Amino acid sequence: MSETPTEHQRANLSLMLDILVSNSSSRQLARELWEFFNHELYCTIQPATGEASRFKILPPIDDVATVNSKPRVIMLSIRKSQRIEEALVHELLHGELIRRGYPVFFIHDEQDSRAWKYGAMIKNNAEHVVVKPIFLSLGYSEDRFTSPTKPLNDEEKRIIADLDPMDLSTPDKFRKAVDTYMAAHNIRAEPLQLPRSIFRPLHAN
Ligand SMILES: [Zn+2]
Repeated sequence: MSETPTEHQRANLSLMLDILVSNSSSRQLARELWEFFNHELYCTIQPATGEASRFKILPPIDDVATVNSKPRVIMLSIRKSQRIEEALVHELLHGELIRRGYPVFFIHDEQDSRAWKYGAMIKNNAEHVVVKPIFLSLGYSEDRFTSPTKPLNDEEKRIIADLDPMDLSTPDKFRKAVDTYMAAHNIRAEPLQLPRSIFRPLHAN
């Protein structure tokens, strides 16, 4: 059920397509995701000195019971840099996982607690295992997959090494493997399947 996009929604797609001007496959990815998320896929550009690029579901999921009844949008916050095209593609690919039916892990531990931060690191890096090959297949180089300004700490290096040999190649394998790994590290995480119907205007109705 796709409504006619608003001017504002079209402007967000145009902004992404302009950044991806040199790569037609990336432009197609952006367009398909924009349609998949019912045009509720937005992009803001942060200054070079601003926060690292991020993929956000807004409003953030804070209650599993209401996850499918509240409207949500996708917000890509992209930092302006020499790597802006790759940063945008990277964040789009976190959305591509939802389109491919991968679960989004919700972490029940208190936000910003140690367990929560550790769980977020696992979630992020597990998603990277799946999306990095897609990133490379779009013609980008591995050293531009993440920002060079953000060195990995030892915990994150260990998580990446642990995840590396896991087969996360299907949504089901991903859910089971990441669920098991989270539990082994005492993270109270829960995989959520987000239907595209939750992506709809925040202020409607
Ligand atoms: Zn990422």
